[in-house]
Amino acid sequence: MNTTANANLFSRLFDRLDDPNRLAIETLDGERITYGDLIARAGQFANVLVSRGVKPGDRVAAQIEKSVANLVLYLATVRAGAVYLPLNTAYTLNELDYFITDAEPSLVVCDPARAEGIAAIAAKVKAKVDTLDAHGKGSLTDAAAKASPAFETVARGNDDLAAILYTSGTTGRSKGAMLSHDNLASNSLTLVDYWRFTDKDVLIHALPIYHTHGLFVASNVTLFARASMIFLPKFDPDAIIKLMARATALMGVPTFYTRLLQNPALSREATRHMRLFVSGSAPLLADTHREWSARTGHAVLERYGMTETNMNTSNPYDGERVPGAVGFPLPGVSLRVADPETGKVLPPETIGMIEVKGPNVFKGYWRMPEKTKSEFREDGFFITGDLGKIDDKGYVHIVGRGKDLVISGGFNVYPKEIESEIDAMPGVVESAVIGVPHADFGEGVTAVVVRHAGANVDEATVLKGLEGRLAKFKMPKRVFVVNELPRNTMGKVQKNILRDTYKDIYTKA
Ligand code: AMP
Repeated sequence: MNTTANANLFSRLFDRLDDPNRLAIETLDGERITYGDLIARAGQFANVLVSRGVKPGDRVAAQIEKSVANLVLYLATVRAGAVYLPLNTAYTLNELDYFITDAEPSLVVCDPARAEGIAAIAAKVKAKVDTLDAHGKGSLTDAAAKASPAFETVARGNDDLAAILYTSGTTGRSKGAMLSHDNLASNSLTLVDYWRFTDKDVLIHALPIYHTHGLFVASNVTLFARASMIFLPKFDPDAIIKLMARATALMGVPTFYTRLLQNPALSREATRHMRLFVSGSAPLLADTHREWSARTGHAVLERYGMTETNMNTSNPYDGERVPGAVGFPLPGVSLRVADPETGKVLPPETIGMIEVKGPNVFKGYWRMPEKTKSEFREDGFFITGDLGKIDDKGYVHIVGRGKDLVISGGFNVYPKEIESEIDAMPGVVESAVIGVPHADFGEGVTAVVVRHAGANVDEATVLKGLEGRLAKFKMPKRVFVVNELPRNTMGKVQKNILRDTYKDIYTKA
């Protein structure tokens, strides 16, 4: 499987580079970084890491804004045989305390504004601290400027760790997912093929790079394909639509697509040069998919993955991209739907737990052997925690996180089924259905609905609209109309927050 002598992801990415003058990254400030530059900068950074005492297998934690230097830090860490640990820039010092003391990195790289607070935490695990700001300036780049670009990539095996990414924790405490060099390389290479990436591609890169989507899917796929990317510090709809005139691909979370649709400049003409729009990390509403097709003539390609598994499924490049479905298991990935309790494999069209196995699946949770064991079946399948089904044509559909399942009066209620009904009502933008403690039923089905401005949507109209369409036990007991749903930075609806907001509605006297 491994075609170079060294299984280090960095070697697999760059050892056989044909032309160092190829463009790898451009920024909105007009900076152009070739593949040769990127490798040289990664060499300088890797030399600095070693001079700071970072050894193969050590963790390098980074809580920094997106920049080219940030990407270089990731590549340099991997090149030095260390384990890259990116942290969401939104985490507070209190949260960082958990990640840093849990992961025990030997180096923490942070924004200069945070250096003091982080130094106190880093001291607990004897980690050094370096800085990088939003422009890629800081103690790390200062030291790198004086370092040699020559660096011998540290030899690594397929199963050695390249990264630890903490799960976003929308359903519990964050856990560190351990990803190997081969997990990352194999999945990216599969995606390059499946999505037909070539050196002619120009990706609009507007995702954060502390998450699997922006860091691995977007960046590694581009680099393996010898394509180039336009690096945006953050999501900017106006800039993205302008860039489409000379780009070929965009990878986004569903919120990108809903926001772009609100922009009057989005049109068939504006997207003419583009060949691929990918969505993932959270469900893309079927309506958004259709609206996008109607407006641009492009069918968004939705895929499904998670921190622990990289990408599992994708809608086809050539075949039908079905709205609301996440497509077929990727080549090399085995996916099945099983009874959550017994693990018995279920027939098509039956909802159950999605389980996956393949070279994409992680090595376990950092320092949580028991937790890791309980999330794998004996035959090596990982229990994703996502409920879904495989339809008659083989497309996988996700109906929600297992932990979001509502059990009311002993009946299982799948939120997605009710959300789809509500979302189809006139005047409704979207909805979230949650279970809230209820004295009689255990949990009461509760709907939280976002309506279009000025639309005549309230509790009574929603309940009336559902009448006769849903079995009684699935009917929401209460409906709340709100301006927007709480989402995390990857666009996932935070049902935990909703459950907390409405926790007393059936129990308060
Ligand atoms: P993360 O580990 O932050 O990438 O989150 C992974 C979770 O996001 C998965 O387990 C799914 O629940 C959800 N997810 C990712 N992609 C999709 C998708 N295309 N449709 C529905 N849910 C998705």
